[in-house]
This record gives sequence, structure tokens and C-alpha cells, in this order.
Amino acid sequence: MENPDGLETFNQEIRNRIAGRRSPRKIWVTSLSFCLRKAALSTYLETSKYERTGEMLLGTLLHRWVQENVEFEGIKFEVPLEYEIADGWVLVGKADAILGDKILEFKLKGFNPENGPGSLNGMEEPSKTWKEQLNAYLNMAGLQEGYIYVFDRDGLDFRYFRVEKDEEAFSKMLGRARVVMTGVGELEQGKFPAWIKPRYTNECDSCIFRAICGAIDRPWERPT
Ligand code: SF4
Repeated sequence: MENPDGLETFNQEIRNRIAGRRSPRKIWVTSLSFCLRKAALSTYLETSKYERTGEMLLGTLLHRWVQENVEFEGIKFEVPLEYEIADGWVLVGKADAILGDKILEFKLKGFNPENGPGSLNGMEEPSKTWKEQLNAYLNMAGLQEGYIYVFDRDGLDFRYFRVEKDEEAFSKMLGRARVVMTGVGELEQGKFPAWIKPRYTNECDSCIFRAICGAIDRPWERPT
């Protein structure tokens, strides 16, 4: 017999409460651009607040600087966005700013010719992860267009790049969220989601879960 609409979500809500889990269960947009095993461990262990890197802190300072120094009528900063996925899980994020019907994201970048473009002017497009994240916000907010502002870390000059809403890319991101949900479900049952591999080869280097993965399968030693 098929469950009536919403019953499975209600059941999951009861299970969450019994297990003492917060509800709704949140997955951050930014976590989906990187290792999904890390996203699952971080969600399961509730460690995201301890994972802020120096780079992230610099990004926060940039947002604050723009917010406090650039006055512009009608602009809203740090706008929370949510998208219900399923079974009590919600995709969450914060757009840096919304101006009218455009989302603006502010990014700080250092330039090094040995690792990408050597200068702001030499940059042809923003990184895949930045575009993915802005696209998720566009889909969550129901807006069509946004801009990624890239600030040069050594001088605060900037350029901006247009990004259009792409529903197909967003549905791939939701697929990544479902991988995290499955991974968290397995962790809750005492299984380790070793089938989830890192997205980029070097991301294990500075990951806070390296010791845990090192005891299981050392994924950085094999091709991903
Ligand atoms: S150590 Fe590597 S595989 Fe393990 S969670 Fe971190 S990034 Fe993912």
C-alpha cells in the first residue's frame, strides 16, 4: 500500500525527534561543491561551524566591507534561501546580496600564474564551484540572473561575471544533495559511506576528517 502524501516526511520527523536530531535537516549549498563524504560527515557530526578556513574568514570580511561601505538603495545583504528537498531535508544557503531581481555574489581571489590566471584581467570566467553555488541560489530564489563579483585580494580591484539560471545544473546539485542524505543515513546506521569519493584530488590534504578516512580507506591514495 502506498503511503498518503506527506506521511513519509511525517514519519521521518518522528524518527528525527526520537534520535534527538534537529529538524529540518539542513544541507548547505556550499558543501555540495566539494567532497560529499565530507558533507555527510559534517552533517552527521554537526561540525560545520568548526570548519571555517582562513580563506572563508577573508570572504566574510569582504562581504562585511561591501555591506558597510557601499550604500545603495534597495540592496539586501546576506539573504537566507531555502529549498525543500524531501523527507524533512532542506537545502540552505545565503546569497551575499540581492539587488532587484539579481543575485550578487562577492568573491575574493589571489592570482598566481602557476595556478590559474595571473591577474584579474586575465580571468576568463569564474570558477565552476562559484557558478554552481550562484546557480543554486538563483533556482532557490526563483530568479533568472546573477553576477559574481571577483575582487583581487592584492588591491581590491574587481570584475563581475554574469550567470544565468540553469535548471539542469541545479537538478544535478540536488542529486549531490541526495548522495549526502544517503551517506548520513548510512552513518546513522553505523555504516561508513566509503563509496562516496572526494571530488577533487587535493581536497583531502586539509580536510578535518582526514584521520577518520585514513583509518578506513585513505581515498587520497587512489585515483578518484
Ligand atoms: S578526507 Fe578526503 S574523502 Fe575523507 S571526507 Fe575529507 S575530503 Fe572527503
